[in-house]
Amino acid sequence: MNQTIRKYLSNLENLFSFSPADAQGAAARFHEEMKRGLNGQTSSLRMLPSYVGRPTGKEQGRFLALDLGGTNLRVLAVRLDGRGKAEISAVNRLAVPETVMRGPGEELFDFLAEGVAVFLEEHRLDPKEHRDLAFTFSFPVAQSAVNAGVLLNWTKGFTAPGVAGQNVVALLSDALRRKRIEAVSVTALVNDTVGTLATKSYADPSCDMGVILGTGTNACYPEKNSRPAKGLSPQPRQEMILNLEWGNFDKLDTNACDQALDRITLNPGRQRMEKMVSGMYIGELVRLILLDMTDRGILLEKKHRSVLVREHAVSSEQMSLTVPGEDFFAAIGIPDASDQDRDAAHHVCRIVSRRSARIAGAALAAVVTWMDANLEKKHTIAIDGALFEKYPGYPENVRCVLEELFARRAERIALCTTSDGSGIGAAIIAAVASSRQEQEHKPARQRTRKNR
Ligand code: ADP
Ligand code: MG
Repeated sequence: MNQTIRKYLSNLENLFSFSPADAQGAAARFHEEMKRGLNGQTSSLRMLPSYVGRPTGKEQGRFLALDLGGTNLRVLAVRLDGRGKAEISAVNRLAVPETVMRGPGEELFDFLAEGVAVFLEEHRLDPKEHRDLAFTFSFPVAQSAVNAGVLLNWTKGFTAPGVAGQNVVALLSDALRRKRIEAVSVTALVNDTVGTLATKSYADPSCDMGVILGTGTNACYPEKNSRPAKGLSPQPRQEMILNLEWGNFDKLDTNACDQALDRITLNPGRQRMEKMVSGMYIGELVRLILLDMTDRGILLEKKHRSVLVREHAVSSEQMSLTVPGEDFFAAIGIPDASDQDRDAAHHVCRIVSRRSARIAGAALAAVVTWMDANLEKKHTIAIDGALFEKYPGYPENVRCVLEELFARRAERIALCTTSDGSGIGAAIIAAVASSRQEQEHKPARQRTRKNR
């Protein structure tokens, strides 16, 4: 590698460094933002209530789940056995076309309802039989009940007009009715982080955090009511899972690349941490860096610019191809890169992905110490998302920050890959909601009897 590239990369390494001291500082600021969010003050962390606590493992029944993530739509049938075991009995997966992500809101919900209709038909499920459906909707929602919530704003490339400010459960229910699906009722609205936490904690009570590291990034945890929670816990002293919406955390130091990326996104100024961490954006950071290097004449050739100027020309999936034996440049449409180019790209991807994992690690550490300042207990963290699961070395980089911050006590934190949270977990939340409803109605009936 020539001297100029080496110098560029060493400068890049500095720009993207996230030292142990940075991690500590970030965690402290994270706590401040959590506190502000819980107190109802302006904060980049929204701390959104879910209206449910963690499951006990005894929940049971059959449920449908509809999961709108960042990239895919999945329809699932889930069975809970009441002894901590949950299984998917059928699943359909379809890509959400960009035209649907950005087209009129009504069409987006028609697309979801059509997904349910096809699922019922394909799996020969009686359309007349009553079914509870859990709706996993992985966007910032202000819930007012377990089955009602208003979209605050779109993220992750969705822009469908006419949805922000609306109750998304009502929009889905209306779309189901338009499709003549009368027997399916939407009984729970679930964030994917909450579903992930529910999936793992259904069988493991030590699980107290759900994290997403995929297209986007986010996390949730159970908040004890003794804190100045939003005063929304259904029963006093009961825990409630809060959705942090941590992708929007904005107290991290950004560099010129981060700022350049933010300017070209659909939601400038927002989701600042997500734009440094998640799968949808780190490929963009790499693309902007490679483009800058090409413009400076130290990488590729000028003719390759046309590939690199295209938004989203580099995905995080392709970044994980910068390991020996794989051809990253060929994958993005540049078959004639040199060995030196490949070597440089490898370093760029390593630098960007490492910072992503280290920031995620610091945020995770902040939430764990919020619940347990001295790490006295075991914490199992359920993590879903292809970035964490598939990017080589990603989990190790997350762990590394935990060890820097907590030394030996980092052993008390278990990072646990948990897929299907947004399907199985959503069904579990629907079951928690229905069992809670029963409980809440019981004392009322008893009271009535007493009054007679
Ligand atoms: P979602 O977040 O939409 O529910 P996933 O968890 O599958 O979906 O995450 C998709 C994101 O993960 C995309 O941004 C994609 O680029 C990224 N991704 C997929 N495969 C890999 C991989 N092998 N390495 C790194 N990132 C990946
Ligand atoms: Mg997902």
